[in-house]
Amino acid sequence: MKIHEHQAKQLMASRGIPVPLGRLAKTVDEAVAAVRPLIEESQNPVVVLKAQIHAGGRGRGTFREHPDVRGVNVITEGKTGGPGAAEEAVRELAKRMLGSTLVTVQTGEEGKIVNRLYVEQGVDIARELYIAVLLDRSLSRHVVMASSEGGVDIERVAEETPEKILKVVIDPAIGLAPFQANELSVGLGLAEEAARAFQRFVQLIADAASDLDTELLEINPLVVTGDGKVLALDAKMAFDDNALYRHPDIAEMRDQSEEDPAEVLAKNAGLNYIKLEGTIGCLVNGAGLAMATMDTIKHVGGEPANFLDVGGGATADQVTTGFQIITRDPNVKGIFVNIFGGIMRCDVIATGIVEAVNRVGLAVPLVVRLEGTNVEEGKRIIAESGLEVVNADSLRDGAEKILELTR
Ligand code: GDP
Ligand code: MN
Repeated sequence: MKIHEHQAKQLMASRGIPVPLGRLAKTVDEAVAAVRPLIEESQNPVVVLKAQIHAGGRGRGTFREHPDVRGVNVITEGKTGGPGAAEEAVRELAKRMLGSTLVTVQTGEEGKIVNRLYVEQGVDIARELYIAVLLDRSLSRHVVMASSEGGVDIERVAEETPEKILKVVIDPAIGLAPFQANELSVGLGLAEEAARAFQRFVQLIADAASDLDTELLEINPLVVTGDGKVLALDAKMAFDDNALYRHPDIAEMRDQSEEDPAEVLAKNAGLNYIKLEGTIGCLVNGAGLAMATMDTIKHVGGEPANFLDVGGGATADQVTTGFQIITRDPNVKGIFVNIFGGIMRCDVIATGIVEAVNRVGLAVPLVVRLEGTNVEEGKRIIAESGLEVVNADSLRDGAEKILELTR
């Protein structure tokens, strides 16, 4: 699960990790009201107005409705007029940003609608660094990645100048060791005050990653200010969903409006769904069988449109939801239902299929392969329903039939 920048910064601040002062605004008036207190508290006539979406690249991204407005805007009061000018500038920008669609390299062409703004104090940036704690699944450990090339596209740095990316692996039994923090600060060319501040910073985010079960904790840029302070100008956090039960406060931060609607629907129904790029929708019980089904579809020359595991004990309702999710995908040209009835009974699945088709309709061919417990009963239910369903005798037979029908 991902959270917004303002939420990540709030979590960080509560752990003593330095971040700029900022206020969340969900309306234009709230954004305007945030300006003066920030200018006064920071004693700096600069504020930054940032769109909150679950995607990066906002600094360079622009709004579809307002191509001249970017996702991150730096407003300097001296430049825009006398006292109150910052408020006016924020008002004009906030009006355009809220409710509009921000398109960045990370959102894809459809973009994301902005419903929240974060108003932040301006910061005097001397250097922009990159730092992240990632979960390395092959090592089963958190690793810290750091680079002196912050603020820009880190993927490009990794590709073109990989030597500019430093990496240390955290031993979970002892956490990030002081010598590792030191190694990183030397590698980044930091000295004195900034080096010490950086080492404290990296120690704190390494601990946060471990305590909060993050999959990703990324600060880009991490800035060194003119007076040697180190603070997180941006913050991205993603959590291991399987560990969220340990963090009810973080689970509450979920913003479903930022998530893929089909995946939200699936999650709420207890289904494991992952959208893919192909044309053959799959509804299968069991993750192993679902993978075997995808392999077989590929083997006969097709491309699966999704992975969907309805689980070992799916109800007719869950099957209906699964159908709804698959048929919503405009790429789907045919559906292959592959069920091996063990704990799951074929008659339950058959009832679910019939109900689903009656409820959501069926505009594409459907191939069903049922095997196992109560298979005869299941086949009878489908046959008597009068639905246009093609029966398959085996996994391979089903894959070939659905491919044929979608050609
Ligand atoms: P992203 O583009 O979505 O990653 O958004 P960021 O939060 O990283 O902001 C993009 C860029 O805006 C940063 O790399 C900074 O260069 C700039 N920026 C953000 N906050 C400030 C600020 O307080 N002062 C100045 N001068 N620039 C800022
Ligand atoms: Mn950034």
